[in-house]
Amino acid sequence: CGIIASLMAGDQTVAVALEGLRRMEYRGYDSAGVACIPNLERTLEVEKKKGKVINLSSAVAGRPSFKDASVAVAHTRWATHGPPTDRNSHPHCSNDNKIAIVHNGIIENYQQLKEELQSVGYDFVSDTDSEILAVLIRHQQLQDPELPLEAAVSLALAECNGAWAVCVIDEANPDILVGARKGSPLILGRSRDGLMLASDATAVAGIADEVIYLEEDDVVTCTREPISGEYSYSIGSMADHHFSDYSS
Ligand code: GLU
Repeated sequence: CGIIASLMAGDQTVAVALEGLRRMEYRGYDSAGVACIPNLERTLEVEKKKGKVINLSSAVAGRPSFKDASVAVAHTRWATHGPPTDRNSHPHCSNDNKIAIVHNGIIENYQQLKEELQSVGYDFVSDTDSEILAVLIRHQQLQDPELPLEAAVSLALAECNGAWAVCVIDEANPDILVGARKGSPLILGRSRDGLMLASDATAVAGIADEVIYLEEDDVVTCTREPISGEYSYSIGSMADHHFSDYSS
């Protein structure tokens, strides 16, 4: 239902994500969650809960690793596939907990993709259509470890039918945030302190100095230069990455 992701200075990353969720509460939702890559430990952390954003915020407040993070993705869910439970809440992770995704929309062919992935050894812990994105993106990376994150995302989405706004973080790339959209809105917010992606511009109003509306089939890559700390982004089309001879 609502998505917000941020690549920002450490103490702002999760705070901006939670503030974004709060501002999107008016859209209606049944669960909320956030995942981040802390600057200290650099291992993916997830907190998600059925119910209100305030419950999520309280849970996160008790977890010091969320106070200083490189990048975060957050979500309020309006369940379409699978009942509203903690387990079905977003973010969803790959089997090895390296990739976390948040998704708005519906992956129509998820059942078929799920069966294919199960047949080659992957497990699923939720009843959602969305979890398949995390597993499929990680599958692309494992098949080709040289693949940039945005290419892994594009290749995974090329297997999917349906509608999505999706944001992805990867433990191996804590200075990168990738987003993509088809059939669901996604905006890019820019400020001196970093970059944000959101399904709704109200989520970043007053925090971002500039808002860019992404187009259908766009894949956006937000990057922090590890040495200078400068932020930049590039927008490509999903079609740019259709070079691989992917087979599942
Ligand atoms: N289809 C997904 C689910 O049921 C996403 C729903 C949403 O857009 O919030 O989990």
